Amino acid sequence: MGGGRVQPVRAGSKELIREINASLVLAELRQGLVSRTELAKRTGLSLPTVSEIVADLLNTGVVEEREVGSSGGGRRPVLLGLKADAGYVIGIKVTETRVIAVLTDLGAQIVERATETVSGGDVGTVVRAVAKVVRRLGRSKQGKSRQVYGVGVGLAGVIDRASGVVRHATYADWHDVDLAGLLAKRIGLPVVVDNDVNTLVANEQWFGAGRGVSDVAVVSIGRGVGLGMVLDGRLYRGAGGGAGEFGHTKVVADGPLCACGGRGCLETVIGEPAILKRTKTQDIEQAADRARNGDREIAEVFDEVGRVLGTAVGNLVNLLNPKLIVLAGEGTRESDLFLPGFDDALRNAVFDGLQRDLEIVVDDWDDEAWAQGAAGLFLAELFQPNLRPDEADRPSLTARSAS
Ligand SMILES: [Zn+2]
Repeated sequence: MGGGRVQPVRAGSKELIREINASLVLAELRQGLVSRTELAKRTGLSLPTVSEIVADLLNTGVVEEREVGSSGGGRRPVLLGLKADAGYVIGIKVTETRVIAVLTDLGAQIVERATETVSGGDVGTVVRAVAKVVRRLGRSKQGKSRQVYGVGVGLAGVIDRASGVVRHATYADWHDVDLAGLLAKRIGLPVVVDNDVNTLVANEQWFGAGRGVSDVAVVSIGRGVGLGMVLDGRLYRGAGGGAGEFGHTKVVADGPLCACGGRGCLETVIGEPAILKRTKTQDIEQAADRARNGDREIAEVFDEVGRVLGTAVGNLVNLLNPKLIVLAGEGTRESDLFLPGFDDALRNAVFDGLQRDLEIVVDDWDDEAWAQGAAGLFLAELFQPNLRPDEADRPSLTARSAS
């Protein structure tokens, strides 16, 4: 992750240093088989420190020793590797109608899936549904209980990641709900909660087009419009976890009333409900089909949606100068209809020189990708804790899960 790379720490709380250094070692082990000497070289830690950390990791069973090849002198060098099947993580995406969950190994590969329908969207219902899928995934088909390290949850809204409190959830009208606390109590595992677009960003960073790119903006389109940002190699959340309310940037003065109470928000122009209203159709696929079959008026609505989005994203590029923009979310299913207008408007909006290396990627919509990203969020906690001072005194997930 380039600039987001964590440096070894030699001052501060002893426990925190230990956790951070262990995470550095784990992050290297994710890359493949490596010797202790090489680990010391790559992490900048001393060989005794590395050996001590490795001994701990071997004890917990997350890492294993493998003898490979010969070093010429007869003694085989011992290489260390991450034991991907040593444990699991569960990633969950909470939507208006469903809880979508995946069980992944420590390499974030999906092992099993589970979904549960929810209706009403009250906190208790969602907590029960999450507990149910976690219980189901926590056991193998043979009924054996699995070693699950923790759960990552993504949902739409303003979320204080450090405390796990949902300040405001858009679809369910939740306010100040301690979702991480409620879930951890109910399922007895460490829980990380974050904005769902951030989980998608995590997914892009771990597996997608954003791998190795340190400045990425993921714009999700659909019912609403979301934004997740990796700036200088790290997920940018803002002071209160509310950064990225791109859908509520104002694009029309005194424009249509938005669900947020404001007027002229981007969402009120390009969100799915706005498209349905303007095309006088019942669902978005129907509207898209009619546009594809020659309905000029509806095709023009999609074209204008593309243009408004292109201008908005162009402004974003002018502000942030990202290397990569990923368009994601269910709205991308209509990308054939809005991309020409989008490209045109984007080109016009972007400041000279900022578009030279800019890449735009349209990602296929997939609920599972969001859930896998939520698992990735938790794995990132295990492998690379944040070093921001405001997050440094959080309870140690690594220590808890390793016990
Ligand atoms: Zn709004």
